Amino acid sequence: MRQSRMKTLVVTIFTLGAIILMTAATSDNNYSIKSNSVSAESFETSLTKPLLTAKLKKSSLKLNWTKAENANEYKIYRSKKKNGKYKKLAEVTADTLTFSDKDYKGERKTYFYKVKAISKSGESTEHIYSNTIKKTVYKRKSKVHGVTYIDGILIANKTYKLPKAYNPGTNRKAYKAFQKMQSAAYKDGINLFIASGFRSYSYQKSLYNNYKARDGKEKADTYSARAGYSEHQTGLAFDINNPSSTFDNTKEAKWLAKNCTKYGFIIRYQKSKEKITGYKYESWHIRYLGKSLAKKVTKSGKCLEEFLGITSKYK
Ligand SMILES: [Zn+2]
Repeated sequence: MRQSRMKTLVVTIFTLGAIILMTAATSDNNYSIKSNSVSAESFETSLTKPLLTAKLKKSSLKLNWTKAENANEYKIYRSKKKNGKYKKLAEVTADTLTFSDKDYKGERKTYFYKVKAISKSGESTEHIYSNTIKKTVYKRKSKVHGVTYIDGILIANKTYKLPKAYNPGTNRKAYKAFQKMQSAAYKDGINLFIASGFRSYSYQKSLYNNYKARDGKEKADTYSARAGYSEHQTGLAFDINNPSSTFDNTKEAKWLAKNCTKYGFIIRYQKSKEKITGYKYESWHIRYLGKSLAKKVTKSGKCLEEFLGITSKYK
């Protein structure tokens, strides 16, 4: 009996001790679970957003993004609509921060690109951040209904002919831009008007033939386009006020040269670029390109042919 009481007591003490130990161990476990979840949370928040940028190369669109902290991999997606279905283009490792999309089609199409940085914390938790960009891509050279586009820009010069049936009339955007420019000029005391805008193939034909009859072919070719080769047939070009060299150096010509870029136009046939454009200097002839492109071309100091790397020569 005594022995068995002693045994009971010992067992009880041991049991109590074990319970105390277990309790301690359990609270330790609790603590460590808590600390795990804290570190998981901080891991989650430390995955940063990759910032995506894109550069258009001749045959591809090159995407670059900034490193996302704690990223394990990146996935790159493309979609035709911002909120549309995104197609996965690639999965790359954490040390890759670039991807070239060579698989785009058509001219001046807008695509949305997205890069996802993915971290793996815990067993299989994915933390995803994404960033979407919009980019217009186009083929280097394309023909749509016989009209040539270089880098998405409609071009008509001595190399690139327009079809006889191409008869778009005055381009609405170009005309609106002209009206804006006209009001701005008016505020500066300058009167601008369109002396000659859109010209059809057949009208250009009679115009050129008259000049050819008067001055001969060689001379006529320096200032007038043959039918199908005139920028006026695009509806994107205007002759301002007075299409003659007497317009040069007038206050209107000076205002136009200084300000037309702001409204999306360029002076198309520059001084000293005659051999490249194929035409003598025309202070009055402006071509609509849209604000951002007009600024780029003007800033480059190049004529449109140089800017695009193309020629202007009759065959
Ligand atoms: Zn003109």
